[in-house]
Amino acid sequence: MSGDALSGGGVAEDGRGFGVFHLDTDGVLRAQGLKELDWLEHGFGTRQSPAWPEGPVIRVRQVHSSRVVAADQVRDAEEADALIGLDPAHPLSVRTADCLPILIADEGRRAVAAVHAGWRGTVAGIAAKTVAAMVRHYGSRPEELRAAIGPGIGLCCFEVGREVSGEFRGLFPERTDLEDRARIDLAEANRRLLVKAGLSAEKIWISGLCTRCDGERFHSWRRDREASGRMTAAIGRRVRN
Ligand SMILES: [Zn+2]
Repeated sequence: MSGDALSGGGVAEDGRGFGVFHLDTDGVLRAQGLKELDWLEHGFGTRQSPAWPEGPVIRVRQVHSSRVVAADQVRDAEEADALIGLDPAHPLSVRTADCLPILIADEGRRAVAAVHAGWRGTVAGIAAKTVAAMVRHYGSRPEELRAAIGPGIGLCCFEVGREVSGEFRGLFPERTDLEDRARIDLAEANRRLLVKAGLSAEKIWISGLCTRCDGERFHSWRRDREASGRMTAAIGRRVRN
């Protein structure tokens, strides 16, 4: 499926690391680096794909925690913010509107993960905890993992008070402005967590698209508050027809 090539946040000098996301004709945003895996289906839903994905998905009750749960152990209304699975029966999914959706695929073991990372989950290291859980449960090797960080609130729009900004000192040790109101780059914070967890920087793709700036494509809680919808990001084994 082809569509518009989108690259929001900028492409690294060598053209790697950030990569390219495509808005496919079904209105779903996909990362080239995950599309390359022929056994995998994934995507980040937008306002133009309200009914995507079709069919059942595995999901949890998202509570801004750093809890990771395995897909075959999910109960009704399970509270968690990341799902991992090895050939799960249905795609793993998270729902967001400003928080970051992160999808992870294991080239070697073919395990997958879906992560909901708002600022609380990011500070609690949910991305790294998800990688650790994949290693523990499925024997994944971090260097064989590919991660796509989807659209969320960008550095342009995510300004927080000092109680929150101070929480990011560990992730941004080079910054001296986190004692006060500051803008935070949540995608970069999660990229750093994934690199620390052992992923290769070349296998992490960031859409760089801001949900609050782009009202035509994305829902944004900060922009629309109670009127805001949610977008689904999902990942699983490709179903062959
Ligand atoms: Zn923005």
